Amino acid sequence: MVIMPLRFNFCPHCEEKIIFEIEMKDINSSHYPAPVYIVCKLCHKLSTFYVDSFLRVSYKELDKKTGGITTINTQ
Ligand SMILES: [Zn+2]
Repeated sequence: MVIMPLRFNFCPHCEEKIIFEIEMKDINSSHYPAPVYIVCKLCHKLSTFYVDSFLRVSYKELDKKTGGITTINTQ
């Protein structure tokens, strides 16, 4: 299965559409859903996105939760 690294979603702070790239190396895959930090280029706020083993976003939190290893800027 090919994992497409480009993801579309919505910033939980400003609700704008965001685009970002995520790869397996960006997450700690010891358990899922795995947190990754996303910084929105529109409102510059950080949120925590939780992804499953296919790097699909399961849910989001408005602040920085523990366990993430990478901070990704949106495109
Ligand atoms: Zn935003």
